[in-house]
Amino acid sequence: ALTAGIVGLPNVGKSTLFNAITKAGAEMANYPFATIDPNVGMVEVPDKRLQRIDELIPAKKIIPTTFEFTDIAGIVKGASKGEGLGNKFLENIRQVDAIVHVVRAFDDDNITTVSGKVDPLEDIETINLELSLADLDSVNKRYARVEKVARTKDKEAMAEFAVLQKIKPVLDDGGSVRSIDFDEDEQKIVKGLFLLTAKPVIYVANIAEADMADPDASPYYQTIKDYAAKENAESLAISAKTEEEIAELDDADKKDFLEAEGVSESGLDRLIRASYHLLGLATFFTAGGKETRAWTFKQGMKAPQVAGIIHSDFERGFIRAEVVSFEDLDQLGSQQAVKEAGKLRLEGKDYLVQDGDIIEFRFNV
Ligand code: GDP
Repeated sequence: ALTAGIVGLPNVGKSTLFNAITKAGAEMANYPFATIDPNVGMVEVPDKRLQRIDELIPAKKIIPTTFEFTDIAGIVKGASKGEGLGNKFLENIRQVDAIVHVVRAFDDDNITTVSGKVDPLEDIETINLELSLADLDSVNKRYARVEKVARTKDKEAMAEFAVLQKIKPVLDDGGSVRSIDFDEDEQKIVKGLFLLTAKPVIYVANIAEADMADPDASPYYQTIKDYAAKENAESLAISAKTEEEIAELDDADKKDFLEAEGVSESGLDRLIRASYHLLGLATFFTAGGKETRAWTFKQGMKAPQVAGIIHSDFERGFIRAEVVSFEDLDQLGSQQAVKEAGKLRLEGKDYLVQDGDIIEFRFNV
């Protein structure tokens, strides 16, 4: 499964956020026996469409799809020099598909920071510098070798060398590969280099509870937001401490609490959704049987591959997919009305599954 790794300097609120995630995960009714790595927190992906589908095509239960966060503890400063624990830190980041970079954006004299002050920009740069140094190391290792092959007019090497030439000066400056614009072919090459600063990132400003109703008013958050925008990255403001409290509430209390705070959705739910989109994930549904269920797929997957997410037999014996889009069901109000309007589609093996598709697979056994 794809996972987003939580990183940040000491005392910025990583553990607090991760606790909120595991507490929210522990509330999941449908996964009571899930035994997972203590560094992995599994949460449900909130999706209002599930309730609506279940209203129109009733089933015994509703099963949301899930998403995983990984807690990446460990030392940051000096990590790129490859000393013991630092090495492990970088290795753990290499394993994740996206980065959730937590940045301190609250004042509290009782909680010390590495630099002795609250300085989001410096904090972000401290971590990113380690990541770009590690990337520079990887790029330098390839650079001379690929240049040599490129001189023989080898097409692949020439293409890769052109990409390395684009990347190297940015890393030399301590920058991130994600800030560079690449065309589609270049993107494929970049992917193959497995660089840390090419991974998609969300900067999470851990703001004070008092700033929750209007995060944009926090100068700390503004700084983080501006930095993210320059890097083609996303940003989000949440109060980790509050999220930890919310995660223990039942749905009704949670709703009341959020209303009192003047927000419509918990920060954790926003983070889950943002991470999901960052990874190019989307949701399809199955309905009409015992359960109304959401499933995660990667955008760009075709119908048989997506069928394989449910069961490998579905992929092997794939005949066709019977598809209704959520919008059509929602507007027309029943499966019967969808059929009468000619909106039930029969799709074959080349069909690119869309977010919100409600699918019944036909397959040979
Ligand atoms: P980590 O080292 O990044 O994992 O940081 P922790 O999650 O352990 O948090 C460090 C300290 O900051 C703990 O005492 C938390 O209770 C506190 N903390 C975390 N988030 C907030 C917050 O939003 N406001 C305040 N005042 N304290 C927080």
